[in-house]
Amino acid sequence: MKIAFRKVPKTATPFSLNRDEMECSGTFRESGGAVELKMSIKGSFETTCDSCGDEYRQSVDDDLSLRVIDGFYRGDEIDIVEMHGGFMDLDYIFDSEISSYKSDYHYCNKCKEMKE
Ligand SMILES: [Zn+2]
Repeated sequence: MKIAFRKVPKTATPFSLNRDEMECSGTFRESGGAVELKMSIKGSFETTCDSCGDEYRQSVDDDLSLRVIDGFYRGDEIDIVEMHGGFMDLDYIFDSEISSYKSDYHYCNKCKEMKE
């Protein structure tokens, strides 16, 4: 889902995306020369426990607030996403969030209980 930056309205506009077992819903709007993007990501994915090696399903329930910039960003804020070419690509942003969940360390419930 690509949206031209110049067409992003000032009023919060809802969107939703699905990817396998993950879903993302939220709103975006133009604010101070950037796009304010609010996302709520829910779902689950298959992963391997980093402690015992068992495969299990990790669930995700996360709320994010990002600012999307058209072009290069030179400030020092975090949670900034740069986009190039005049379009904001919501699929790309969603996919990168999914990859960052997947590349995180994961521990199955058994191992979590043992640590506590
Ligand atoms: Zn484990």
